[in-house]
Amino acid sequence: MPASISRPKAQNLPDYAVETRLLSKTYRARGRQEAKLALDSVSLTIPRGSFFGLLGPNGAGKSTLINILAGLVVKSSGHAYVWGYDTVDDERMARAAIGVVPQELNLDPFFTPREMLEVQAGLYGVPAAERRTDEILEAVGLADKAHAYARTLSGGMRRRLLVAKAMVHNPPVLVLDEPTAGVDIQLRQQLWAYVKGLNDAGTTILLTTHYLEEAEELCDRIAIIDQGKVVADEETQALLHRLDSKMLTVVVDRDLEETPPVLAAFNPELKNRRRLTFRFKPSRIKIGAILAAFDTAGLSIIDLITEEADLEDIFLRLTRHDPIAAPPSARLS
Ligand code: ADP
Ligand code: MG
Repeated sequence: MPASISRPKAQNLPDYAVETRLLSKTYRARGRQEAKLALDSVSLTIPRGSFFGLLGPNGAGKSTLINILAGLVVKSSGHAYVWGYDTVDDERMARAAIGVVPQELNLDPFFTPREMLEVQAGLYGVPAAERRTDEILEAVGLADKAHAYARTLSGGMRRRLLVAKAMVHNPPVLVLDEPTAGVDIQLRQQLWAYVKGLNDAGTTILLTTHYLEEAEELCDRIAIIDQGKVVADEETQALLHRLDSKMLTVVVDRDLEETPPVLAAFNPELKNRRRLTFRFKPSRIKIGAILAAFDTAGLSIIDLITEEADLEDIFLRLTRHDPIAAPPSARLS
């Protein structure tokens, strides 16, 4: 079992909380099943202190990567490091540096939250005097359930209990694998407030989620994997600018039967008789040119709405294998 760690002194802190180098995983054929390449030469660096999002469609390899970091899945080739420790050569130290909230909600139904945390702390060799059981239960909003059987806890409470369990040994890296799937919005926010607090206090967070808005809001850096390969790895803001795509909706003062010819060059979509939507590349088309065309057409503008591309657009484009350079709706010269 991993030893409880005292955090390394400042001068020993690794630059990267997590690093993988050409990490690959093939699940071997069982019976007639074919071998499955779940991770294909993944090289990623997760800066210490960051809130890092790992996104990808179902089956992309997210859990495989996380489980290799946690020492639960054996890699096929390449290297993985947690807090500077090789997950194979320095397995004990690597394991002690990471806490994982698994995707599945499996908990022993006959243990209470308090017992569960105590057992977990014991497994990690945390001395009784250093245990923070009550503090952790309080932090995840389960203090009043400390003595309830796990089987009586709601899905949201179980999820938070798993977060608590991952934190008993005070690891510098916390990994959450789709932690909010099936958790209602209020509990999600409670969970995020806690995790954000941990991040503010220095814990590196690695998160996988299906909720792109959540990733967009929380993560300072995002990697997208698809079919075992990294297809994007950038600061969230840079990723959002990457599409070079903007939407402009204009509401005019009278009904239009069709798009006026002077505006047709910008390929708008007539949403209803008074509402036109344009999709364009801000690097090529200035909004002013579109607005000037309204003037030329003799139309008065009542309202304007602009929207940037969001993470969902980017995600879909990168994982649907469309060429990113030429989104059809933005074809304009
Ligand atoms: P994600 O978490 O992104 O949904 P996974 O890492 O769970 O993806 O799975 C990646 C791929 O590996 C999928 O095709 C999945 O079916 C396969 N896979 C995962 N675990 C196993 C396993 N134990 N045996 C065989 N194939 C697996
Ligand atoms: Mg998964």
